Amino acid sequence: MEGEEELPMRKVYDRLETKLIHAGEPEPLINGAVSMPIFQSSTYEYAGQTSYHDLKYIRLNNTPNHIALHQKLASIENAEAALVTASGMAAISTTLLTILSAGDHVLAQDCLYGGSHDLITKDFLSFGIDFDFIDGADPDSWKHKLRPNTKAIYCETLTNPLLQVADLEAVVEFAKSHGLISLIDNTFSSPINFRPAEWGFDLSLHSGTKYLNGHTDIVAGAVIGRTDLIEKIRHKLNHLGGSLDPHACFLLHRGMKTLAVRVEYQNDSARKIARYLEGHSAIKKVNYPGLESHPAYQRACELFDGFSGMLSFETEEGVDGAERFIQRTTLPIIAPSLGGIETLVTRPATTSHSGLSAKERKRLGISDGLIRVSVGIEATDDIIEDFDGALKA
Ligand code: PLP
Repeated sequence: MEGEEELPMRKVYDRLETKLIHAGEPEPLINGAVSMPIFQSSTYEYAGQTSYHDLKYIRLNNTPNHIALHQKLASIENAEAALVTASGMAAISTTLLTILSAGDHVLAQDCLYGGSHDLITKDFLSFGIDFDFIDGADPDSWKHKLRPNTKAIYCETLTNPLLQVADLEAVVEFAKSHGLISLIDNTFSSPINFRPAEWGFDLSLHSGTKYLNGHTDIVAGAVIGRTDLIEKIRHKLNHLGGSLDPHACFLLHRGMKTLAVRVEYQNDSARKIARYLEGHSAIKKVNYPGLESHPAYQRACELFDGFSGMLSFETEEGVDGAERFIQRTTLPIIAPSLGGIETLVTRPATTSHSGLSAKERKRLGISDGLIRVSVGIEATDDIIEDFDGALKA
C-alpha cells in the first residue's frame, strides 16, 4: 500500500492456522526477537518523504507494529490490504464516512449491532447521508429501496444478537450489478469461519476487540479488502485520528496468533450448548446457525467453515425467566461484549441494543427476555452443567 513501506516478510503459507503465526512477521526477525517488539515511539526520523501520509507517526498508521498487523490481517482473509483502527466503531465510522458523502444513500441490513444502527440512523442525519433498511433474507425486495444516489450496501455476517444469516451471495451480486460498494461486518464469524473477500465483498470490518484479540483486554478494529479503498480509508483515518496505539497493536497481534484454536473450540462448544438448550423444556427458542432448526441453516452450511461461538435464546418465562437464569448462573460473567476466552452472558435490550427504542427492538424481534451468550474456552460440560442448574432452580 502507498505510504506503507513493505516489511520483508517470512515465507508465505496457504493455510490459515500457519498464516496466523507467520504472515506479516518481519524477516529477518528484529534483533532475533521471536515475538514482534513494541515500537513505542510516536514519531520517527524524517527520511525525505514527500507526502504527508508517508511521514512515520503513530496517527498515520504506519509504524512497524501497524504494518505487520496489516499484512497479517490481509493474508488471513485472503484479501489485498488491511488497516487497523482504534476500535470497531472507528473502523465502521471511518469506512462509511470515506465511502459516503452528503447527498449519498446506503442500504443497510435491518438488524445490526446497536452502535452501527445508531451511527446510521442518528449521526448520519447531520452528515446529510440517507439510508434504508433491507431484509437480508429477501433479495427481491432490495431493488425497491435502490435510489440513483445509493452508493453502498452494508450487512453483518451473523447479525447481533439474533444470529441471522443474510443471503450474502445475493448481497455481492446486487452490489456488482448496481455499482455499489459491498461492506460486511465480519466480527461475529471471525476470519476462521468466513472470509468475505473470497465471496467477492469489497470490504470486511471487524471489532478487533472481540475474536481477533480474544482476551477482553483492548478495544481495536480492522478494515480488510480492496487496496484502492483501504488506501482512501487510511487517509481518512489519518485525519479523523482513530489510530491504534502500538501497545494495543502488540496485544492484538499476540491475540491473533491463537485465533484458530480459540474459535474452532468455541464453534464446537457453542453448537453443543445450543443443542442442549434447544432440547430443554424451559427454553422457548434458540438462535444458532449451526442448528438444523435455524431458518438459514442450509445457507450457513454453504457459506461458513464454522457457526461461531455466539448464540442467543429465550426462556418460556420472558424477562423474569431471563433475569432469573442470568442471576442463577455462576460460571459466565454478566457483561456486554463478546469473543473472548471467558463466557459472557447479557440481555441485549439492556446493553448492546439499549440505544434502540423498545418499538424498534420489537420490530426486529429482539425481545426484552432475549439472552445472548458469548461462549468462552472453558470446558463445555462445565457451562452446560451451570446452565442446567440455573434452569432447574
Ligand atoms: N460490530 C459488532 C458486530 C459488534 O458487536 C461491536 C461491539 O460490540 C462493534 C462492531 C463495535 O466494536 P468496538 O466496541 O470495538 O468499537
